[in-house]
Amino acid sequence: MNRFAISVCAAILATGTAAQAQVTNEDIANDQANTSQVVTNGMGRDLQRYSPLDMLNKDNVKNLVPAWAFSLGGEKQRGQEAQPIIYDGVMYITGSYSRLFAIDVKTGKELWQYDARLPEGILPCCDVVNRGAAIYGDNVYFGTLDARIVALDRKTGDVVWRKKMEDYKAGYSYTAAPMIVDGKVIVGNSGGEFGVVGAVYAYDAENGDLIWKRPTIEGHMGELNGEPSTMTGELNATWPGDMWQTGGGATWLGGSYDAETDTILIGAGNPAPWNSWLRGAGEPNENNSGDNLYAASRIALDPATGEIKWHFQTTPREGWDFDGVNEVVAYTDRDGNKRWGTADRNGFFYVLNREDGDFVNAYPFVEQISWASGIDENGRPIYIEDNRPGNPSAAADGDKGEIVFAVPGFLGGKNWMPMSFSQRTGNFYIPSNEWGMDIWNEPITYKKGAAYLGAGFTIKPLFEDHIGALKAMDPDTGEILWQYNNGAPLWAGVMTTAGGLVFTGTPEGRFIALDDETGEVLWEFQTGSGIVGQPITWEQDGEQFVAIMSGWGGAVPLWGGEVAKQVSYLNQGGMLWTFRLPKELAAVQ
Ligand code: CA
Repeated sequence: MNRFAISVCAAILATGTAAQAQVTNEDIANDQANTSQVVTNGMGRDLQRYSPLDMLNKDNVKNLVPAWAFSLGGEKQRGQEAQPIIYDGVMYITGSYSRLFAIDVKTGKELWQYDARLPEGILPCCDVVNRGAAIYGDNVYFGTLDARIVALDRKTGDVVWRKKMEDYKAGYSYTAAPMIVDGKVIVGNSGGEFGVVGAVYAYDAENGDLIWKRPTIEGHMGELNGEPSTMTGELNATWPGDMWQTGGGATWLGGSYDAETDTILIGAGNPAPWNSWLRGAGEPNENNSGDNLYAASRIALDPATGEIKWHFQTTPREGWDFDGVNEVVAYTDRDGNKRWGTADRNGFFYVLNREDGDFVNAYPFVEQISWASGIDENGRPIYIEDNRPGNPSAAADGDKGEIVFAVPGFLGGKNWMPMSFSQRTGNFYIPSNEWGMDIWNEPITYKKGAAYLGAGFTIKPLFEDHIGALKAMDPDTGEILWQYNNGAPLWAGVMTTAGGLVFTGTPEGRFIALDDETGEVLWEFQTGSGIVGQPITWEQDGEQFVAIMSGWGGAVPLWGGEVAKQVSYLNQGGMLWTFRLPKELAAVQ
């Protein structure tokens, strides 16, 4: 081989390397518009879960057929809550017990699998779920139940880096899908039922170095580039004594990102312990000293530094486990105003101004809310004080406070399962549940790694025929345009499409497509186990595909009280189902 031939070979090799696909910031920013791949949790960082694809529509959805299915195998058949990621011919899914699978998206063949070696003694509160991966550059990222974040080579599954976020023995864990913003892997933590301290973390995507950390509870110091940065809030402004040190506010559902205002929005869970009398919430007062910031809040962060830009607390003086973690979706209303929409555990849907987080409006989205009569003009709940669980120290034996029946129950008017905003209709599609609970408070002291509640509870249905209710809501008026009732509680994500379809799944195993204007079920498929996953859609070889994970689990069977008994017949599983609309059937009505 002469010298010329060698240099040609080298050039071809170099070109081959350079042409290897890498997930870029542009890919992530354009995820909603680029229908050939899905590279973000939420099908776009604003979490609308709306696809502009309309090949599949109300007329032809009846022709949607299975393409392939994939079993997660093993005996680890617990809740499968992940949203798949698709890039460069590969689908990435995460499974229960901190597993990640890479699958050939055309054939369903497994390419590689990563199993986190979890230590004995992990403390996941609410099933061993994982809600999905993030992808960037050459890596795929996900969090594990022992409170670590792992970067894997997306081609081989080899570990690139693996970082301990926090101590799992203190109750920290991790279940959310990470988010990528400007080369940083943004994650939160789980463990609000163990008295952890919520925080948001930004890791360098390349090497896993911690760039910044922002605790969500006032009094704790932030970090930036290895140095202390600023304190979160003002020490003891809204927390009595030392209670802030184990104050909860876990950021267990991850966040959204608004490029226009360069803002990360992330929610913080319940303050710890659940017993609000121990956190100064007993007496309403003028300076709001028992509000317990920034638990049960949405928090806006500067992605460069982790500084708090603004916050909005949905449930000050929280006493019902109304975590404030639910997703915040950026959208534009019918008058062209830029808004955030979020449906809280506490039963109210909030509209906020996207510039500064100012409160715009709030509407109840479930029935019979008992803890508040409404939301005032400042966005603060109007409490019905008699419906706060009673103070144990006021009880005769000082042991158990007065029991109240509270609506919603602690699993929320809506829990983690993401809603969708349709750009086609301008409406939100909210997976909600109608249930209440008997709840009472008890004394409690903090002990590392032990449940830190100071409360007891039993969840109960409100209606004979349904608990779940998928609701189409006009965010400009709060009007419920239609609702689709389901026997078991809804626990799956929702997706809308430009084809006029709303996709979601039920614990009874049905993957369903509804008419976005009427709520009529236009198509359904029985997946064999309960659906608590999140649907996606994409275009491949000129056809529209849809996928969903099936595998019953999550918090309901563990914590659902009377509801859990009602749904104990449901079978567990662990499958990824993929569907396609064959070209030849696209025009067949
Ligand atoms: Ca909680």
